[in-house]
Amino acid sequence: MMENKEQKQKEMSPEERIKSFKEVSLGYTKEQAIEEAKRCLQCPVPLCEKGCPAGILIKKFIKHIADEEFDLALKVILEKNSLPGVCGRVCPAEEQCKKKCICKPAININLLERFVADNSEKIVKNVKKTGKKIAVVGSGPAGLACSSELALMGHEVVVYEALHKPGGVLTYGIPEFRLPKKIVMDEANYIKKLGVSIKLNSVVGKLFSVDELLKKHDAIFIATGAGLPYFLGINGENLNNVYSANEFLTRNNLMKSYKFPEYITPVKRAEKTVVIGGGNVAIDSARVAKRLGSDVTIIYRRSRAEMPARDEEVKHAEEEGIKFMFLTNPVKIIGKEDVEAVRCIRMKLGEPDDSGRRRPLPVEGSEFMIKCGQVIVAIGQGPNPLIGKTIDLNTGKKGNIAVNEKYETSIEKVYAGGDIASGSATVINAIHDGKVAAKEIDEKLKRG
Ligand code: FAD
Ligand code: SF4
Repeated sequence: MMENKEQKQKEMSPEERIKSFKEVSLGYTKEQAIEEAKRCLQCPVPLCEKGCPAGILIKKFIKHIADEEFDLALKVILEKNSLPGVCGRVCPAEEQCKKKCICKPAININLLERFVADNSEKIVKNVKKTGKKIAVVGSGPAGLACSSELALMGHEVVVYEALHKPGGVLTYGIPEFRLPKKIVMDEANYIKKLGVSIKLNSVVGKLFSVDELLKKHDAIFIATGAGLPYFLGINGENLNNVYSANEFLTRNNLMKSYKFPEYITPVKRAEKTVVIGGGNVAIDSARVAKRLGSDVTIIYRRSRAEMPARDEEVKHAEEEGIKFMFLTNPVKIIGKEDVEAVRCIRMKLGEPDDSGRRRPLPVEGSEFMIKCGQVIVAIGQGPNPLIGKTIDLNTGKKGNIAVNEKYETSIEKVYAGGDIASGSATVINAIHDGKVAAKEIDEKLKRG
């Protein structure tokens, strides 16, 4: 008999996992999922649901798990979210549904969602066709969520994706050991079974313009994400073996360079790596470099308390032997052709800046060097500018496409959502945008 206490999922040991790209978190067994579901108080007003941007009926799906009705649990989730296996793994639940849960400790809603997604079959419903045709640009979570909603409403949907695989950041950014690509492909295939056509290797803005798409479709949803890496703008950034996190992660996740020469994209296996940044992207890059055999140090200009990365990811990185240097900023990357070291300066925290976090200030005379053979710059991404070049859409200060609360852009019939509109955010926010935009597109098409 299992006790009625919080169920902890198993994880691969740090020693084992740094040798492979296999998934670290192993999820719940059936028995654990049922026990965890039974802890749910089935609150008359389930506050957890207020914390879910996708609006999943959490209380209801948990009840089905407690009653061992896993297929029904999945049906409840799919009504609101077509990417449950993804969200069950990467959603920052501690900031969302779990944060609102009144149970102490909070119910592990994300792990229950993951369990159901991994252990039940997704049933495809037949829907009456409307005869309307919508183009979606980009197959990240915003594009996939929007297209699955529109397909369930009976519309014909064509997704145009620049890369040779669907999924956006889920495929090229988040590493295999956090989100196996099989999960992403299975969920993209489910969306295809709903009737969505995904055209790969189709760069809108190069192969055809948004105007050309508009002529063939009743509406367009742009979900091209924030894939343009920011750089530091310091000397030495153009040396060999200085990567943007975006390139480093794409090489490994999308092009599978960690399996070189089985896959043809090569990768640097540096003895020492310095990763610059404090978000999830920096942690992911560090953990990939570690698995490639490197001794890895993350340098971040603020302190641990201001670090935007998820606690769980930082914990995993620390367990894997990744070092952190807080209050440290790079001032120059040193080398002749290849990078040899990073010159850094110590920082101290001043008054809060526009981000609400305390501003990092250099400490005069505190410069020092870190020797390394590889540098990965993970200080953020901006909107991909390509699509904006083919159509004159209103944009915000940072180049994001400007939208109103209905996700309408400045051009009729053109909608946008996800990171291209909000700036770098989360998977579930992108899903929320895609769903709301789908509803707005549907209502507009019905009005004629
Ligand atoms: P994207 O996922 O960026 O997808 C955009 C798609 O559009 C891409 O496939 C791109 O190829 C395609 N595209 C771009 N331009 C064109 C064009 N001109 N024509 C056709 N297609 C085009 N969020 C979390 O919630 N949890 C996490 O753990 C997490 N980890 C992250 C780790 C990394 C390394 C990164 C980079 C981000 C992470 N995020 C995480 C953030 C999250 O992944 C994004 O907020 C989310 O993917 C945004 O979704 P999107 O659909 O707007 O864009
Ligand atoms: Fe269950 Fe927590 Fe939601 Fe209440 S708030 S219904 S205990 S998951």
